[in-house]
Amino acid sequence: MNRKEFLKKSALAGILGTSVLTSCAEDKEIINHGDKKINYDKVVRWKMVTTWPPNFPVLGEAANLLAEMVKKMSGGRFIIKVFGGGELVPPLEAFDTVASGTVEMGCGAAYYWAGKSTATQFFAAVPFGMNAQMMNAWLLVGGGYELWKETYAPFNLIPFMGGNSGVQMGGWFNREINTVEDLKGLKMRIPGLGGKVIEKAGGAAVLVAGGELYTSLERGVIDATEWVGPYHDYKMGFHKIAKYYYSPGWHEPGTELEFFANNKAYEKLSSDLQEILYTATLRIQNWMLAEFDYKNAIYYQKILEEGKVEVKKFPTQVIETLRKYTKEALQEVIEGDPMSKKVYEHYNDFRKKASAYNALSEQAYYDLIG
Ligand code: CA
Repeated sequence: MNRKEFLKKSALAGILGTSVLTSCAEDKEIINHGDKKINYDKVVRWKMVTTWPPNFPVLGEAANLLAEMVKKMSGGRFIIKVFGGGELVPPLEAFDTVASGTVEMGCGAAYYWAGKSTATQFFAAVPFGMNAQMMNAWLLVGGGYELWKETYAPFNLIPFMGGNSGVQMGGWFNREINTVEDLKGLKMRIPGLGGKVIEKAGGAAVLVAGGELYTSLERGVIDATEWVGPYHDYKMGFHKIAKYYYSPGWHEPGTELEFFANNKAYEKLSSDLQEILYTATLRIQNWMLAEFDYKNAIYYQKILEEGKVEVKKFPTQVIETLRKYTKEALQEVIEGDPMSKKVYEHYNDFRKKASAYNALSEQAYYDLIG
């Protein structure tokens, strides 16, 4: 559409309202959706397994909220029963359980499934990668979601966007990080690609279950741990035992969360229930970032007031070293897997363009307000 046509169409829409122009065609389309006639008396019941403890703040709450919205929007015709991690299956078996069709739906973060397909990581978090706003643009409009569906299709799964954490914090440290030398021998709980980068820098990426993190850090079993951001971290109590709270979360600049459904179960849904499910996930996508952004701002102040922790930024030299090792780690991922290469190239192309424009928009504005 050229500029003139666009202006003409915009003017018409302004006078008549687009709904008036298109409503007849749309009504017909719904009525004639012949392959799956909607049975308004039928109640569909699904189970959802999550990777989070039951009712886990924000992440588990998102699963409950989704089920509640789907029930309301469908007038009680679509009921999803949510199970916390371990209630039905162990947290990290959610992917396989839904893929096999034993349970219809799951909730987690795509990087948990890197062992199934390394390409999944690009739909969760990439060190020095896209932030929440860029991820939203890439997934919703830029073709990222289509690639995500393509990545999950071999597992008979369909993914849905399930919220975003925003830029996370760099983590809680009991060792000051002044130079790259300080990363050597650092025992840190940091999962995924970020962990690989820490290992390249001479540290040790340690796996510690969420429930054991506090004591591990307190007793010096680990020197550092990353978690999420001020709100979630406050609930974990790290501000009581760590000396330093480092910024920013270079390793998780905007972690995307997810829902996923068994594709056969999804295909069996009538078209209205499919749309209700998708729409509800988009509401979670919107809600979660707002929840994190709001609570993080409030809890950051609480941490400053109540904790003895010193808030610090990683020195530039350290960040540059981490960036260098991130490039190496990413290269290893895409060399080993064609799907990862395809997804990463698409991801990185948009990341570069978005960053170039952000320099004039978001970044420039943040610089103004300080
Ligand atoms: Ca994290």
